Amino acid sequence: MSHLTPSQSSSSERRFLEKGVVAKPIGAIGWGLFAEAAFAPGDPIFTIDLQYEPRTVIMPIYEAFGDCDERSVTLVPNIAFCFTIEHPFWFVNHCCDSNSGFVNWGRVEEGKVPFAAHREIQPGEQITCDYSWITTPHDGSPEGGPWSMKCLCGHENCRHNITGYHALALPYQLAGMMPEELPTGRVPAHIVAYEPHLVEILKAYPKLYRRYSDTLRQLQDVSKLLHQRLGL
Ligand SMILES: [Zn+2]
Repeated sequence: MSHLTPSQSSSSERRFLEKGVVAKPIGAIGWGLFAEAAFAPGDPIFTIDLQYEPRTVIMPIYEAFGDCDERSVTLVPNIAFCFTIEHPFWFVNHCCDSNSGFVNWGRVEEGKVPFAAHREIQPGEQITCDYSWITTPHDGSPEGGPWSMKCLCGHENCRHNITGYHALALPYQLAGMMPEELPTGRVPAHIVAYEPHLVEILKAYPKLYRRYSDTLRQLQDVSKLLHQRLGL
């Protein structure tokens, strides 16, 4: 069943409630999300609404397979946010040299989680994120197995086989937590929390560690509320 909706301006592109991005087909790998405006590091590109978002289906992680597979993100502990085709996140491809993603450990701001530019983005550039930085050790199967994906990003530093954050080499894990350039905390706090050796490293940076632990508590609280709301 397919209907033309106001957000779908033609068959070769798709628009959203958010200005500044457009989805377009890009050949063999399907569609991608592209910037139509310039974004500076830290600028939100879109947000994910935790309270009321008709474009997102919220469910426990073990149910987020089948139709939802590879279109969902475990944004707070054990809860998957499954994006519909009306949400720009649906079109965000992985790249091993990504330009966007979460910031401040996935901190919730006024009921929404911003998805932001990690560096300068010019109009026409594809918006990409590093899927490893948004994947828990249990996102691969309903039984809680690890996730992996063959990467076709074509970047010179392509990792070829993409895994969850837990299975990355230390330099890639650190690049997600405390990159040389702002913004920091590109990995949601609850995903970092699976890695005690990384939490130990963070403790040496009191300001960063405080922000991380504060956000971890926040995401755990949101998860509890959502579990109640879903009757789990
Ligand atoms: Zn790659």
